[in-house]
Amino acid sequence: MSNPDDLGLRATRRELLAGALAGAAAFSLPRATYAADFHRVTHGAFDITVVSDGFITLPAEVLLPDATPEERQPILARLGGDATGAPVQANIPLIRHGNDLILIDNGSGMNFQPSAGKLAANLKTLDIEPEAITKVIFTHAHPDHSGATTTADGKLLYPNAQYFVSETEWNFWTDKDYETHMPSALHGFARGAQRDLFAVKDRLTLVKAGQEILPGMQVIETSGHTPGHISFELAGDGSLLITGDACTNDVIFFEHPGWHFGFDTDPETALKNRRMLLDRAASEKIKLLGYHWSYPGVGYAERRDSAYRFVKV
Ligand SMILES: [Zn+2]
Repeated sequence: MSNPDDLGLRATRRELLAGALAGAAAFSLPRATYAADFHRVTHGAFDITVVSDGFITLPAEVLLPDATPEERQPILARLGGDATGAPVQANIPLIRHGNDLILIDNGSGMNFQPSAGKLAANLKTLDIEPEAITKVIFTHAHPDHSGATTTADGKLLYPNAQYFVSETEWNFWTDKDYETHMPSALHGFARGAQRDLFAVKDRLTLVKAGQEILPGMQVIETSGHTPGHISFELAGDGSLLITGDACTNDVIFFEHPGWHFGFDTDPETALKNRRMLLDRAASEKIKLLGYHWSYPGVGYAERRDSAYRFVKV
């Protein structure tokens, strides 16, 4: 990948991204609180507790770049935001399976916004120390998903875990020449991903779509948000599909599956895979668990005209 244009980022989108990321840090109003109690789902051999990492606030231009001002306002209000942006939750599945205690993503740590990074504290209220985590499986390496990999002094926050990320995600972000290969809007993301992925490289397993990470947990291809973004399908009574940012918000992207999300690296691939995911989830009545959906982010996709509605369990 030698040409930034290969990333599918249009110039306007690149500029928007750079501005939006800088702007995101300025949002600090606690317009949503993180969940104090924990939703539990049992699915086949998997015992899942959805633990909150807190919430992040995203600018309106990132959440709704394709919406008109008239369309934006009521959606931002439904999300608990205002004209400038809205908070979205960060739902982290903690999965017990046999002797394993697994996290799907580890949240923001100190590396995104101070309203997030609450996972370790919330695990402690469940009497789970960081040392007890045996596997951390990344959907992708954005700072609100892998940002809690290391502590302020560079040590691993979950020191006994094995780590998993897709091979494509590793290859994309760990490019030594990212400054010439990627548009400048992605440089901050690349530095964050390199910080997190290099920190665990000796205990990292690279995975591919179709592979089983555990018996009954299969890697599902959902690229586009990042080049190696993956989701996970868990076998049980039917399927449970856990996703990160293949469908970043339950309100916006179920109801407007054709709208772009401002932080998608390859916007058209992201749209294609999001539609496939929602279409399959609705047709097969697959239970879904989404990272930035209203807590706990567990529910179904119900078809409504040419779009969907998120039906919470
Ligand atoms: Zn995210």
